[in-house]
Amino acid sequence: MPEAPLIDTFGRLHDNLRISVTDRCNIRCFYCMPESGVKFTDRHEILTFEEMERFARVAVSLGVSKIRVTGGEPLVRKDLAVLIGKLARIEGVKDIALTTNGVLLAEQAQDLYDAGLRRLNVHLDTLDAARFQQITRRDEHHRVMAGIDKALELGFGPIKINAVAVKNLVEPDIVPLARYGRERGVEIRYIEFMPLDAQGLWDKGKVLLADTMLEMLAAEIGPLEAVPDPDPRAPALEYRFLDGIGKIGFIASVSRPFCLNCNRIRLTSDGQLRYCLFAVEETDVKGLLRGGAGDDEIRRTIRTTIQKKWLGHEINTAQFVAPPRPMYAIGG
Ligand code: SAM
Ligand code: SF4
Repeated sequence: MPEAPLIDTFGRLHDNLRISVTDRCNIRCFYCMPESGVKFTDRHEILTFEEMERFARVAVSLGVSKIRVTGGEPLVRKDLAVLIGKLARIEGVKDIALTTNGVLLAEQAQDLYDAGLRRLNVHLDTLDAARFQQITRRDEHHRVMAGIDKALELGFGPIKINAVAVKNLVEPDIVPLARYGRERGVEIRYIEFMPLDAQGLWDKGKVLLADTMLEMLAAEIGPLEAVPDPDPRAPALEYRFLDGIGKIGFIASVSRPFCLNCNRIRLTSDGQLRYCLFAVEETDVKGLLRGGAGDDEIRRTIRTTIQKKWLGHEINTAQFVAPPRPMYAIGG
C-alpha cells in the first residue's frame, strides 16, 4: 500500500527536503559564521553519502520529490557530484538543486552537470570585490564570478543568485545586481537578513526590507509587477520588469514570512532532522541510520517530527528565540 503523504497538523504537505552535506566553508560571511575559531563537527559525526542517500530514499517513499543540497559550503565536501548522482537517480525525485557560494563552482561545474544537476542557486551579495571581501572576510570574488560564467556556459538553468540584504551595507549593490541578472538571464533573489548568524549580530534594524529594495529597483530600472508563482508554496515573492527583461525575487522571511505555505524538512550534516530553519529542537536520525533501524522506523520518525511542526517562526515577536545553531550548521 502506498504511504500517506507527510501532512502536518496545520494541513501543510511536505515534499521538499534540504540536505546539508557539511558545516565547513571556505569563506566567512559575517551574517553566518564567526571570522575565526569556528568549531566544525568531527568528520566521523558527519553523515556519509550512503547514509544521506538512504535517508533521502525513505523520505521519497513518503512523498518527498524535491531535494536541495546545501551546507556550509557543499562544494568543499569531496566528490559532491557523486552524491548528486545518487540523489538524482532515486526514483520519485523530480527536482534536484544545489545552493553554493560559487567559489569552487568553475572547477566542479562539469562534474555536477554530468551527474544530472541543472538547478543552481549561487550566493553573491555584491559585484564589488572590496565589499565582497568585507562581507566574507575572503578574497574570492573573482572565483565566484568565474563560477557563474562557467555554469552559464555549460547550460545550467535556472540559475538564481542569492543576495543577503543587510541594511546600511548592501544598498549600493541592489540595482547593479538586478542589472547583472537582467543581462545574463539569471534571477536575483534578495534574502532579508535573518537572525541565524553565529555572533548574535542580528536585529530588526539591520534588515534591508523587500519593500525598500522594490522601490529602489523600480526607481532606477523601471516598473515591476508581481508574478503569480505556479507553485503557491514557493517562498520567494517574484516580480518581473515591465519591459520584459528579467525577474527578481524576495525571500522576505522577516517582513513577509511564508510559514503558512512551508513544505520543507531539513537534514543537517550531522544527521539531525529539523522541521524549520528556526526550530529549537531536532530529531536524531543519525542514531537510527547507524543503529540498524529499518526503513519503517525512519518513516515513523519523520512523521513524528513533522507532527511537532509549529505554525511559524516568531521573528517579529518578543517571544522569538534564535535557534542554538547558526545558518552554516543547520544548512541554509
Ligand atoms: N554556502 C552556501 C551559500 O552560501 O549559498 C550554502 C549554505 S548558506 C548557509 C545558504 C544561504 O543562506 C546563502 O545562499 C545565503 O544567502 C543565506 N544566508 C546565510 N546566512 C544568512 C542570514 N543570516 N540571513 C539570511 N540569509 C542567510
Ligand atoms: Fe559559507 Fe554560505 Fe555561510 Fe557564507 S552563507 S559563510 S558561504 S555557509
